[in-house]
Amino acid sequence: MIAIRTEREIVLLRDANRIVAEVLCALADRAEAGITTAELDAIAERMIRAAGAEPSFLGYQGFPASTCISVDEVIVHGIPGSRRLKDGQICSLDVGVRYKGYYGDAALSVPVGEVNEERQRLLEATDRALANAIDAARAGNYLEDIGRAVEETVRPEGFSVVRNFVGHGIGTEMHAEPQIPNFSTGRRGPKLKAGMVLAIEPMINAGTHEVKVLEDGWTAITADHRPSAHFEHSIVVREGDAEILSISPVATRRWGECVKR
Ligand code: MG
Repeated sequence: MIAIRTEREIVLLRDANRIVAEVLCALADRAEAGITTAELDAIAERMIRAAGAEPSFLGYQGFPASTCISVDEVIVHGIPGSRRLKDGQICSLDVGVRYKGYYGDAALSVPVGEVNEERQRLLEATDRALANAIDAARAGNYLEDIGRAVEETVRPEGFSVVRNFVGHGIGTEMHAEPQIPNFSTGRRGPKLKAGMVLAIEPMINAGTHEVKVLEDGWTAITADHRPSAHFEHSIVVREGDAEILSISPVATRRWGECVKR
């Protein structure tokens, strides 16, 4: 069963996700050469707690930090630590919070300094894939329309869609039904209905879609060590355009527009 949220619940989900958006934009501004991923994580945890929320990743199945920070060949679930950002890298920032019993979850990837042409194109294609996926997430469409939109956006660029990790429903749990693949599965899946709340999160690799998980049990890297990008918004399905929840006065609809201001 995919939950249909009431407007009262959506107010709380909006609040939770606005906190996420503000933290992400702050991290995006600080993601420069020389800073460690642990320092970024500390900034996020401080902001989340100051907003009266809790970092929902911390302790989730034993995850040891408040954010996932995934640099270059790391696709998702990077554990913040002593790694220092360097110019030319892609830094993916993923933040989740719990606020008054409701969850917020979003992610964006930023260039550290100047990146090469391939990384720039990867960032832009992944951001665009998320925007197109959100356009497909409207009442009356089917779940598969979301994944197809992602796939059709990035395939012409020669990039590949990660298959091992998917988006998810979100609400009173961080990961709720349905799972949301970023590719066509050959089954149209459930019909989307107004009030469903979804975390849509394309993970796109420059090279192979194949993934390796490091010995820490979390860090997911590309099997060919080429770079990867990840963008995520939590949205409400509506009769027309979806409502993006993970947005704030500084976070625009397209994540790519909230960085490099
Ligand atoms: Mg998520």
